Amino acid sequence: MLTPKFDQLVKDLQILPSVGQKSAQRMALQLLSKKRNEGIRLAQTLDIAMREIQECRQCHAFSDDEICPICQDLRRDDKLLCVVETASDIMAIESSGAYRGRYFVLGGHLSPIDGIGAEDLHIDELVMWVKSHPIDELILATGATSEGQTTAFFIHQAVNAYVPKITKLAQGIPIGGELGYLDSLTLHQALNNRSFI
Ligand SMILES: [Zn+2]
Repeated sequence: MLTPKFDQLVKDLQILPSVGQKSAQRMALQLLSKKRNEGIRLAQTLDIAMREIQECRQCHAFSDDEICPICQDLRRDDKLLCVVETASDIMAIESSGAYRGRYFVLGGHLSPIDGIGAEDLHIDELVMWVKSHPIDELILATGATSEGQTTAFFIHQAVNAYVPKITKLAQGIPIGGELGYLDSLTLHQALNNRSFI
């Protein structure tokens, strides 16, 4: 405890993931003693980001404007739509560099235990989108968890009539993975999803 304002700063820094009291204290001391200008800039950046970053009206990813850069990008394939649970999934897929289609963010997955039903996700909007914007393929890239797979199944049922091809991401052995360390379910999926070399 240094001053009430210092304590408040330490408390607020702890809302960040993986930041406990000790780390927060170190950050606060660093900002105050050595990085005051950077701290002021960080505060301004946070203020602008919290007020101005919104959900893209089309895909529900984060966006500075009503429509996000990916939805605006004319070079992307309109006929390919990848459904993900959260905006962070888009970052993961984009960093792979293997996908040039468009995205749709559900906003989570179905989870009856947590009281999350279809009405809490953007599923109705997804159905409306594929009805009014014909696509060739819908890729269900929800998580490989039971909730993610249940969500994929639910969406499959909802859009099946409007999309000619519905796929999901392959499940199997990670790059660099050794068979002996894999759980039996992953190995089972890897065998089922085997491909030609
Ligand atoms: Zn968008």
